[in-house]
Amino acid sequence: TGIRELLLSRIRDVADYPEPGVMFKDITPLLADPAAFAALSDVLADIARATGATKVVGLEARGFILGAPVAVRAGLGFIPVRKAGKLPGATLSQAYDLEYGSAEIEVHAEDLTTADRVLVVDDVLATGGTAEASVQLIRRAGAEVAGLAVLMELGFLGGRARLEPALAGAPLEAL
Ligand code: 5GP
Repeated sequence: TGIRELLLSRIRDVADYPEPGVMFKDITPLLADPAAFAALSDVLADIARATGATKVVGLEARGFILGAPVAVRAGLGFIPVRKAGKLPGATLSQAYDLEYGSAEIEVHAEDLTTADRVLVVDDVLATGGTAEASVQLIRRAGAEVAGLAVLMELGFLGGRARLEPALAGAPLEAL
């Protein structure tokens, strides 16, 4: 569709970032284009409504930028999932493995309840480790996962297959 092409045209490939051999997908040109950013927010808000989500969770940091306008457009609350140590209140945390070492993400425990269905929003699905940990975190908070929506999926890294068990039938939408 036209929207797909518009979005794709606003992604910049940056070679050897953040390390040699990696082709980084830079979304800042998309954010700087009001028509493209609005179109993306509209498509993601449609997904939020279609999944019956009651909350939007954004993954630090670009998931905050993309997820916040989706929450506003869909009339839902926005919940940040942050890297460990950044949230001031009582948190639940989830550790996950990186290629070298590990990372930890957190959510405010009181932000999600058993009544919530959560749409997780992020910019890029790569190995799926971050998204998988966020799904585990949301379930541990007692909420249901309505789906995961990303701007881009780097298919060659196998994130979708890795996420399948965690998503347990919830949709993974990659624009
Ligand atoms: P994963 O955990 O799936 O390996 O990595 C996904 C996380 O890393 C996402 O939060 C995403 O923002 C970031 N990420 C990985 N590769 C890229 C990339 O090429 N471009 C952007 N913008 N983010 C990336």
